[in-house]
Amino acid sequence: LRGLRSSALPARRLCTAASNAAAISAQGRGYGLKFYQFSYVDLFGVQRSKLVPASRVEEIATGGAGFAGFASHLDMDPTMGDLLAIPDPATLTPLPWQPEVGWLSCDLVLFGKELPHGPRNVLRGVLAKLAEEGVTLKTGVECEFFILDGSGRAVSDPLDVQAKPCYDAQALMRRYELISTLVTHMEAMGWGPYQADHEDANGQFEVNWDYNDALVTADRVVLFKYMVRTLAERAGFRATFMPKPFASLTGSGCHAHISLHEPGTGKNLCKGGAPEMHGLSPRALSFTAGLLNHAPAMTALTNPTVNSYKRLGARMTSSGATWSPTAATWAGNNRTALIRVPDDQRRMELRLADMSANPYLMAAAIGAAGLDGLRARSVPPLPTDRNMYDPSDPVAAAAIKAAPPLPSNLKAALDALDSSQALRSGLTDAFVDSYLKLRRAHWDEYARHLSPWEIEAYFDV
Ligand code: ADP
Ligand code: MG
Ligand code: MG
Ligand code: MG
Ligand code: MG
Repeated sequence: LRGLRSSALPARRLCTAASNAAAISAQGRGYGLKFYQFSYVDLFGVQRSKLVPASRVEEIATGGAGFAGFASHLDMDPTMGDLLAIPDPATLTPLPWQPEVGWLSCDLVLFGKELPHGPRNVLRGVLAKLAEEGVTLKTGVECEFFILDGSGRAVSDPLDVQAKPCYDAQALMRRYELISTLVTHMEAMGWGPYQADHEDANGQFEVNWDYNDALVTADRVVLFKYMVRTLAERAGFRATFMPKPFASLTGSGCHAHISLHEPGTGKNLCKGGAPEMHGLSPRALSFTAGLLNHAPAMTALTNPTVNSYKRLGARMTSSGATWSPTAATWAGNNRTALIRVPDDQRRMELRLADMSANPYLMAAAIGAAGLDGLRARSVPPLPTDRNMYDPSDPVAAAAIKAAPPLPSNLKAALDALDSSQALRSGLTDAFVDSYLKLRRAHWDEYARHLSPWEIEAYFDV
C-alpha cells in the first residue's frame, strides 16, 4: 500500500479500509458503476461529495477522499490537513436515477482518528453506548417537503390552493410523475416505501418507508433529500425541506418513530406494560422520560435553524393546526403531544424535529436523551391524553405548565444544550462545543441581519 495517499491512517484502520475498498470495488464492478460519489454531511446537514472514477476507487476508498474541512460547516481551521472521508461499504447504492454512479456514505477521519464532531461518528458513538445498555435503536423518519416552482418562491401547482389540503387527491395526482418516480426508486434501493401523500400545506408532500437501524435510516434520509431535490430539479421544480417556507402554511416536520430492540435477536423491547402507560415496557418508559426531560436541549439538534422556531412556536396556520408540539408531554394515539404512542404500542413517535435537522444528529440526540433515561431508570409522568392545542382545557394547561418548556428560539435551544450534562455525556463535549461554536456564530449572523419587518415596525418610532 506504500505510495497511496493514506499516510494519515494508522495501520489497523488502513487494513480495514483496504479490505472495505476491495469489497466496494468488486461490488461496484458487478453493478457496472463508472463513478462513486463519496459523501458526508457537515454539522449543518449539508451534503458534501467527491466524485471518484471507478478506475481509482479502490485507492481512494483505502486512503480516504480528502477534503479541506474548513470549507464546509465543520469546526476546523484552514491550517488543518486533509479531512479523510472513508466510505462505509454497507452504504454502497447505485443511484436509481443515475445508475452508473454509486453513492457511499463516509465516516470522517482527521490525523488518524475519527473526527469527534463528524455527525455520523457522533451517532455511531451514541449507538455503541446504547448497545452497552443492551439496546439497539431503530427509527423510522417521516420526511415532509415542499415542491415549488422553478423560482423556488411559490408552490409549483397553481391549482393547489385548498384551505385544508391534507390528502388532497387532485393535488397529489397532479404530481404523480415525480412522486411515483421517487417511490419506484426507493423500491429499487430496497427501502420498502409503502405510501405517499399530499400533506397539510399547499405544495407539501410526504413519502414513507420502512424503519430500520438508526444509522441506516439516517443515511437514507440524507439520500432521500438528495433524490427529491435532484428529481424535482430535473422536472423543472425546486424542492425545499426548510421548516417553514411560508408563514401561513404548516411547516415541514420530521417525525421520528423510535423503538428499542434486543441486540442480536432484534426483538422489540417497547411492548408489554400497563394500559394506563399505553402498554410501554419499563425500559421504553425510561427512554421516553429521557426524551421528555431533555427535549429542551435536544431542540438545538432537532430544530437547529432560526427558521425552525417559526414552525415550533407557530400558533395557527390556514389549515387550522400547526401539528407541531407545544410542550414536552406524551400521550397515546394523539397528535397534539410531543411524544405519541401509536396503537401498536411498539414504538414512540417524537414529533419535535423538523426537516432542517441533520439526520445523524437528530438520531444521536434521541439516543443520548433516551440513554440518560435508561441509565437513570427515569419514570415519565402519567400521559396527558388531551387536546394540547386547546388553551381552555385546564388539564392540558396544567400539564403544559408542569412540562419542561420548549425553547422559543435557536439561542435558547443552544443555551439548553450547553448546560445539558445528559446530552454532553451521550454526545461528547468535543462534539457539543464544536456544534455550539458554529451554531452560535450562525445565530449572531442572524441577529445582525436587518429585516423588512424591522423597518416597518420601527420606522416611525
Ligand atoms: P404517521 O401516522 O405518524 O403519519 P407514517 O406512516 O407516516 O406515520 O410513518 C410511520 C413511520 O414509523 C414509518 O417510517 C414506519 O416505518 C415507522 N415505524 C413503524 N413501526 C416502527 C417501529 N416499531 N419502530 C420504529 N419505527 C417504526
Ligand atoms: Mg483542490
Ligand atoms: Mg406521516
Ligand atoms: Mg406528515
Ligand atoms: Mg407522524
